[in-house]
Amino acid sequence: MSDVRPPGRKMLTFDSHSPSSAGLAARNHLQAVHQPAVVPFIALRTGEEPVDQELTLRDAPGEWGLAYADEVPEDRDVHGVLWQRHTQSLGRSGKPAGPWLTGQVHPGRLRETMVRLHCPVCNYPAGRSGDGWLFLEPLAAEPVDGRLTTWPAVCLEHALTYARYRPDLRDGYTAVRSAEPVLYGVRGRRLRFAGTAFETAEHDVLLPYEHARGRWIVAERLVRKLLQTTTVIQAVEVVAG
Ligand SMILES: [Zn+2]
Repeated sequence: MSDVRPPGRKMLTFDSHSPSSAGLAARNHLQAVHQPAVVPFIALRTGEEPVDQELTLRDAPGEWGLAYADEVPEDRDVHGVLWQRHTQSLGRSGKPAGPWLTGQVHPGRLRETMVRLHCPVCNYPAGRSGDGWLFLEPLAAEPVDGRLTTWPAVCLEHALTYARYRPDLRDGYTAVRSAEPVLYGVRGRRLRFAGTAFETAEHDVLLPYEHARGRWIVAERLVRKLLQTTTVIQAVEVVAG
């Protein structure tokens, strides 16, 4: 494996000769040194914003309801739900570029990682073991199994970076494996047609797919339901990065 590290940056390594406590300390140090420099793939970049689209009423058999005036197939998911468009700040390589806004996410890239079960930090496949994919959930009294989440699974390497990035995990988190994180539905705006124009009926509604197909929703977040879960660890404090 070639070494592409910047000159002058010391890489700590772990081997079978290291005592476990020293290995753990080194691992923590490694995270403390390197994690803050990682910009999550889902991070919102300066200038990225929702696109105002002209809405229209489509009146076709089986397709009656809300639509974009200039709609393209990519505006809907496989369930026929309409999605909010957002601009993207991309560099020459086609990857997100520019200053990033801590704690804020780009809904389009978040959706991409949710659909693919990719890590929201590196956009490579999320960590998966025999017990399923790795998810981080806020600490709460109710059981994790059966919970709905709009946050994607994460790879093992970026679990700590991800925990620091999410505002909802500031008070700690439960790391779980879910063997069946089923696609459940969407969160978004519900609109209605008020005679001559569309208006927002509800700003933030969560609907299972069977109810989101009514074509009055503009989706912002994909929702998965975490089933067949196994708790990996509970962390009561997330150190700021
Ligand atoms: Zn990752």
